[in-house]
Amino acid sequence: MWGYILSGFSRRSFLAGAAVAGAAFVGNPVAGARTGARTERIPLTREDHRVVVIGSGFGGGVTALRLAEAGVPVTLLERGLRWPTGPDADTFPHAASPDKRILWHRSNPQLFGTPLAFEPYAGLLEAVVGDNMTALCAAGVGGGSLVYQGMTLQPAQHVFEANFPQELDWATMDRVHYPRVARMLQLATAPDELIASPNYEAARTFARNATREGYPVSKIPMPIDWNYALAELRGEMKPSYTNGDGALGVNNGGKHSVDVTYIAAAEATGLVTVETLHEVRDVERAPDGRWTVYVDRTDASGTVVENKILTTKALVMAAGSANTTKLLLRASATGRIPDMPDALGAGWGTNADRIYVWTDPVNGFGEKGGGPVIYGSLQWDDPTAAITVIQASFPPLGLDSRSTVMVGYGVSSGRGRFVYDAAIDDAVLQWPREGDHEIQTSRIGPVAARIAGPSTLLVDTNAVVPTTWHPLGGANMGSVCDLEGRVLGQPGLYVLDGALMPGNSAACNPSMTIAAVAERALDHLVVEDVGTLI
Ligand SMILES: Cc1cc2nc3c(=O)[nH]c(=O)nc-3n(C[C@H](O)[C@H](O)[C@H](O)COP(=O)(O)OP(=O)(O)OC[C@H]3O[C@@H](n4cnc5c(N)ncnc54)[C@H](O)[C@@H]3O)c2cc1C
Repeated sequence: MWGYILSGFSRRSFLAGAAVAGAAFVGNPVAGARTGARTERIPLTREDHRVVVIGSGFGGGVTALRLAEAGVPVTLLERGLRWPTGPDADTFPHAASPDKRILWHRSNPQLFGTPLAFEPYAGLLEAVVGDNMTALCAAGVGGGSLVYQGMTLQPAQHVFEANFPQELDWATMDRVHYPRVARMLQLATAPDELIASPNYEAARTFARNATREGYPVSKIPMPIDWNYALAELRGEMKPSYTNGDGALGVNNGGKHSVDVTYIAAAEATGLVTVETLHEVRDVERAPDGRWTVYVDRTDASGTVVENKILTTKALVMAAGSANTTKLLLRASATGRIPDMPDALGAGWGTNADRIYVWTDPVNGFGEKGGGPVIYGSLQWDDPTAAITVIQASFPPLGLDSRSTVMVGYGVSSGRGRFVYDAAIDDAVLQWPREGDHEIQTSRIGPVAARIAGPSTLLVDTNAVVPTTWHPLGGANMGSVCDLEGRVLGQPGLYVLDGALMPGNSAACNPSMTIAAVAERALDHLVVEDVGTLI
């Protein structure tokens, strides 16, 4: 959640010649590394794989597990690190004492205009900065599930059908795929015993105020074993849930993120190899129709220690909305993948994200802001203007800020697009400044203000730094891919992540729908493509 205060820019520092330079060492690999401005000899490795998946978030996790269960070996490339947790672990960083673990090394972040001077590290969050909008993208085994709050909402049928292609077949997804995701993530709502504790005063205030306004209030399903939070209250482990410290990852464990669910199950099949610190720099269609993947293996500081060129029959893009779209647009613009659909890069949306800091200077919300999320108000009657507003914990900053956080998102028709810029050899997001203006001024803002009530202060952080943590689209279903993620006209190339979404996720946080759409796609691909294209 604290990502909203990050802005800055992400410039490709890709050495276009890295793979070429490495190619000079084919057959004669020499150990070495690139340090500073000087390029030393970097060994090159060539490998051939049946299936390569880029990215280990929701889309990549579902893909790896379901292909492996069908007997298909999978190589999963992840640019980030593993982040193991357990009671009293100190794996994840803390908002109160920020350090290098927060930031992906190629982000050049600024904190309200002040550059942060962390040493380069394969940290958790990359800020992909575009025109009028910064998209926050996660890094690490498990992707966004490492740092996400964990709100796991299934859209209502009428909102889903108004925003997604009918052919996805709501009835089947409702019966098969959404429940399958819910089981994998072991969803649960917070127990009343926890909510009644002093640490959850903000949650109780939100529910009381929303009810007062006549709004619906419900508990939000979360991928959390709440016994961990109860154990914290009993003093059995250091607080991680119950003081809001989990905003950058829950140290104590008990959060069923993708690394400990889908990826763990995939690795347990023995058919999935997860390669960490493997950053894909380029993808290409080989003359024989196979796929070539150019990879930098790095150390944890981002220094390249090996170049790899992988060839594969089937390539699955699951690097998240922004990074999948950027990789494909570069490949298209530079001729590495000819004849890509014209709509590539278009139809991109923010889910109309809004984060408010809600301050009650007189009463406050209690000294400890337990989290991550307990209650929300799902206002989904109108499928074209459906919104969700929730309360989330405010990270502990060592003082009683008398503040908590309210978050809103919903259906918006605003769309931007990624466009390739040859001058920087990268695709850049172009977002219309007023893209989500209508839903924010007519619905999200007024509802949040009424819940906050008089005598409190509601600061819209997106007005300061326009940010989304729900980037969606870029290789949209229907225009760039089919509903199973097959890129149109590119046999063996698939998109199975947030880039496949139609620029919104039907007034819900996106992870559950990204995973359910991938589950549905894999049901088809296992039957229809394994043995031919895969
Ligand atoms: C702070 C925050 C809070 C959030 N809260 C919620 C929430 O409560 N509920 C919810 O539903 N959603 C939430 N989200 C959004 C959610 O995390 C994303 O929608 C979801 O993770 C996207 O899934 P994905 O499969 O598209 O990609 P991701 O989960 O983003 O995974 C992509 C993976 O690809 C890797 N990758 C990228 N580029 C490369 C490359 N070139 N080479 C190799 N690997 C690469 C990345 O490191 C990453 O691990 C939140 C996001 C953030 C940032």
